[in-house]
Amino acid sequence: MNIILLGPPGAGKGTQAHHLVESRDMIQLSTGDMLREAKDSGSEMGRIVADVMARGDLVTDDIVIGLIREKLQGNKQGGFIFDGFPRTLAQADALADLLEEQDETLDAVVELRVDDEALVERITARSTCGGCGEVYNDITKPWPADGKCAKCGSTDIKRRSDDNEDSLRNRLMEYYKKTSPLLGYYYANGQLASVDGLGDIDEVKAAIAAALDK
Ligand code: AMP
Repeated sequence: MNIILLGPPGAGKGTQAHHLVESRDMIQLSTGDMLREAKDSGSEMGRIVADVMARGDLVTDDIVIGLIREKLQGNKQGGFIFDGFPRTLAQADALADLLEEQDETLDAVVELRVDDEALVERITARSTCGGCGEVYNDITKPWPADGKCAKCGSTDIKRRSDDNEDSLRNRLMEYYKKTSPLLGYYYANGQLASVDGLGDIDEVKAAIAAALDK
């Protein structure tokens, strides 16, 4: 089963993708994670995208489509979760072509609906574990008092440099201008399921499971 998690920054796509990786043996393909890795590795592509990402603008379609193309040729396990991709109509068309080339289908597109105020709160409070990628939130899911990740024991707490208010405003604007039209696109294709992303993590998890098992 191949699915897209669609929603604005901070909607909980990464958190829910982690649950699906664990519960359904799926493979998370997060273009944001891939781009951050490229940036951290100091590669040429990483240098090209660094400023764009810091501003909260979208990286060019060619770059992200290339990243996804590479990953689709590898291990498929329980299917792919596209997290943060596609973000434009051109990326959505490219994904359809790439899946067809691999004799794969897109089985569901799950929209996580969250209002903007909740997004700002979530994003400014979020951190992730540098060891395993577990997502934490200063208010709803703080780091354990001993400073060690509850999942892997790492003490490497990471906060994203683009999780500040200026960049977030721009990322939201990019979402509404360029990504939200995908909701109509997938609705028209009969593939869209919308889930309330405002509940607690387990409620959202259950709502996504129900949408996928329909
Ligand atoms: P994310 O981790 O998904 O919030 O992505 C972080 C940043 O990476 C975004 O603000 C964009 O600059 C860039 N990015 C990630 N995925 C894409 C994509 N599919 N298309 C264009 N830019 C992307």
